[in-house]
Amino acid sequence: MIQAPKGTFDVLPEDAARRELLEGHAKKILGAAGYRRIETPTFEATELFARGVGEATDIVQKEMYTFDDGGGRSLTLRPEGTAPICRAYIEHGMHKLPQPVKLWYLGSYYRAEAPQKGRYRQFWQVGAEVVGSATPETDAELIVLLADLLEAAGVTRTRLRLSSLGTPETRAEYRSELVAYLRAHESLLSDEVASRIELNPLRAFDATDPGTRGVMHGAPKLLDRLAADDADHFAAVRALLDDAGVAYELDPTLVRGLDYYTRTVFEFSSDALGAQSGVGGGGRYDRLIEQLDGPPTPASGWAAGIERILLASAQPPPAAELVDLFVALAKPDGARAAFELSREARRAGLQAQQELGGRSLKGQLRHADRIGARYVAIVGDGVSGGDGLVSLKNMESGEQRETTAGEVIPTILRGRRL
Ligand code: ATP
Ligand code: MG
Repeated sequence: MIQAPKGTFDVLPEDAARRELLEGHAKKILGAAGYRRIETPTFEATELFARGVGEATDIVQKEMYTFDDGGGRSLTLRPEGTAPICRAYIEHGMHKLPQPVKLWYLGSYYRAEAPQKGRYRQFWQVGAEVVGSATPETDAELIVLLADLLEAAGVTRTRLRLSSLGTPETRAEYRSELVAYLRAHESLLSDEVASRIELNPLRAFDATDPGTRGVMHGAPKLLDRLAADDADHFAAVRALLDDAGVAYELDPTLVRGLDYYTRTVFEFSSDALGAQSGVGGGGRYDRLIEQLDGPPTPASGWAAGIERILLASAQPPPAAELVDLFVALAKPDGARAAFELSREARRAGLQAQQELGGRSLKGQLRHADRIGARYVAIVGDGVSGGDGLVSLKNMESGEQRETTAGEVIPTILRGRRL
């Protein structure tokens, strides 16, 4: 038996309703702030991610689905949305538009990871990007919009962690300082941390053993090393969030998976989730457009995982759509009239279905009941046009009466308005 590939899943109709609702929230919340929807291809030149996400990142090192396009060019299923949007910004000369350009997207992304709850190989992200503004208001607006979206989606036990990474230059200097500090205290560190000082000194902040924790307590923090203008920018972002009443924790150890971040970085998580607690995150990426051969352009954005939002949401699924009318056949030769009546009903805005299963009349009525139809129109022999006779049954009251085909829709519409 052929099954869906490992790490993928089917979105069944009952799941689709929750996803549509979430998409509606995103459209409303982001649309109200002037963000316009963009979609980019599901695959791109591999080089875009190698340059845009960073050669050294986990994504590029281990998680990409890369293939040959048949003509010797290397393509990759998109693992994230920011680099493609920057590519599109440059390709379409969007720097000539009024700045900043505010965009949002929702689509599927692909990462070759070990599948588990909340971690898939094909998953969906909703994201927002503001390209062409360096202001702290931009970062604060983006964070507030994601907070609003998570709230509308019913995500519970949310936490927001916030930090600033300064510039790549500040980070490089800080890294050397941290490495030197760890070297000086090497004998107190766990073997694992000690063996990875050069490779990933920041990991030492996540260690749980008392020896390393003691050392890290006194370790230099990147936040204390920011250049004055970066520190001012970060203070302004925080002040705006304070004014907006958005709670956050400063987390000097917050490291985001992508190389291109500058200044503000943030991540929302939910304690309602297990190990994969990250719901969405992002930050400022002032160097990325230039790195992709565009004009120097500051930008900021976030992405959030649809599946994790739904997993962390306490909201019940939306109620199934009402079936206003089921058109049943008393005899098979009523089929053309039934076809016409159900089509007319849909044009009038009703949710209408006709018998498609070849059932007996009794079977059709049972079916109409099962799908929750409010009315059943039973079409008899050779009925056609508005004058043909039809038996209309109100499934709620059980009342049934003879009427004309032309009266069915007005009757239901009247009943609906009551
Ligand atoms: P994680 O730490 O969980 O691996 P990440 O840092 O790789 O997350 P981002 O690249 O920032 O995640 O992507 C934004 C959001 O997309 C995440 O917060 C998460 O909700 C979702 N996400 C990322 N990878 C996956 C995946 N493999 N399956 C489902 N959702 C994912
Ligand atoms: Mg990841």
